[in-house]
Amino acid sequence: MSDLTLTDFVGEAWWLIGSIVLLGFAVQTVQQRRARMGGERSRRVSDRTAGTVLGSAAGDALGAGYEFTNPTPDQDITMVGGGGFGWAPGEWTDDTQMAVAILDVIATGSSDLDAIASNFLKWYAAGPADVGNQTRSVLDGVALPEDLARAATSYLETNPGSAGNGALMRTAPVALVALDDRSEIARLAESIASLTHAHPDSVAACVLWSLAIQEAITTAEPDRPFNWEAAVRNGLPHVVEDRRDKWDNLISEAIAGPPSRFNPNGWVVTAFQAALSAIVNTPQPDEEPVGHLRDTLVAAVRIGNDTDTVAAIAGALLGARWGKSAIPGEWLDLVHGDRRRGSTQIRARDLEELVRGTTQPGK
Ligand SMILES: [Mg+2]
Repeated sequence: MSDLTLTDFVGEAWWLIGSIVLLGFAVQTVQQRRARMGGERSRRVSDRTAGTVLGSAAGDALGAGYEFTNPTPDQDITMVGGGGFGWAPGEWTDDTQMAVAILDVIATGSSDLDAIASNFLKWYAAGPADVGNQTRSVLDGVALPEDLARAATSYLETNPGSAGNGALMRTAPVALVALDDRSEIARLAESIASLTHAHPDSVAACVLWSLAIQEAITTAEPDRPFNWEAAVRNGLPHVVEDRRDKWDNLISEAIAGPPSRFNPNGWVVTAFQAALSAIVNTPQPDEEPVGHLRDTLVAAVRIGNDTDTVAAIAGALLGARWGKSAIPGEWLDLVHGDRRRGSTQIRARDLEELVRGTTQPGK
């Protein structure tokens, strides 16, 4: 130590100070980069949560004018409205009205079943233009929200084969309640479906679709391939055990296609298969991958029959993967509707505002 001159000491000290400054700069740069990446990820997840609800609403509005028809191959599919109920261009139907009944509750951070049941009853009491047969039969005559699930069970006992698509069509918002908890999503999907559709296949379809939506929102990246089939199959462990093999096979049938095979589709099984088949069998445009959302919704409507519902179901998962930014601007401008007959009309931006209230990351 006695050999250390003052010059050496000053040199060492400057070297040490320089190293500390450089290290601090490097740490700060990494932190800023992480913050930027975190902000970018959060922005993308928000795009996909909004896309889930808006994709479903857009599919519903696109299919509304073709409900219960079988469009010919050369027929243009556009958001023209019309159909059996005289919808305005871009107007959504009962599918989105019932989804909003769920979203209005979960936008408050709640998943209270009685509150959701109460919204269903208010929607039905207002006299919706379009309402599915099973939904009507269950809601009709129920006065109290807490009695709704029991009415659904009792309807199933009298009609053991009844498994309509009316719960699957409105399941888009359910995954947003608990994006980080797949068991909770499965539980809620089952409970909310069972308010009107207690059949195990109606429940299984809602559980599988809601979990696929969760997987898309939390893992999909715009520039990387997304495995639709795996996302749907990954929910099978959450399906009641004696239905797993059946749904595994139903998924295989849908993947094999063609989508046109799944018509009629008022039954929850063929509605699910029609939506999945349209998604996996519609090519992704090389030059514009996000165009897959638009092309698939058109393909879903082309399957025919319950066109608005099949496109609403497909739109939820497509939007969860591709995000709101993939929905054509002219569709977003047109999409609108009411919560229930006679209520103030709301638009895409209002749905997006409600989605922001859910428990998505960044809230
Ligand atoms: Mg409808």
